[in-house]
Amino acid sequence: MELYITISSKQKLCLVFRYFKNHVSRTLVSGDISWRCVKKTCSSYVKTNSSKTKLTEIKDSHTHDPETEESLNLLDVQGRCKRKACEDLTLRPSKIIRTELSI
Ligand SMILES: [Zn+2]
Repeated sequence: MELYITISSKQKLCLVFRYFKNHVSRTLVSGDISWRCVKKTCSSYVKTNSSKTKLTEIKDSHTHDPETEESLNLLDVQGRCKRKACEDLTLRPSKIIRTELSI
C-alpha cells in the first residue's frame, strides 16, 4: 500500500507514504492537510485533501532511508496496543499484544 494513515505510539496521526512517515504539520486554508516528514532534518512534505484520501502535492526529497515494512508494522501494532490498554485498564498487556498480533 503506497499511502495510508496510522496512529503512532504517541497517539498522533501518522501518514505513511512510500515507506516514509509524516506527521500533521498544519491544516491549510483550503482545508487540505500539510504533512511533514517525521525526521526534523528532512524537508520533505506531502499534502492531502481534508479527508486524507488523496494526495494533492508531493515534495519527495528525503535525505534518509525509508522505513522497512517490519518497522512500520511494529509501529502500527504498538499504536493499537497502547490505545487498547488505555481504553480497558483491566486487560493484561500480554493479552492485548497476542490479540493484535493475530490479526
Ligand atoms: Zn524524510
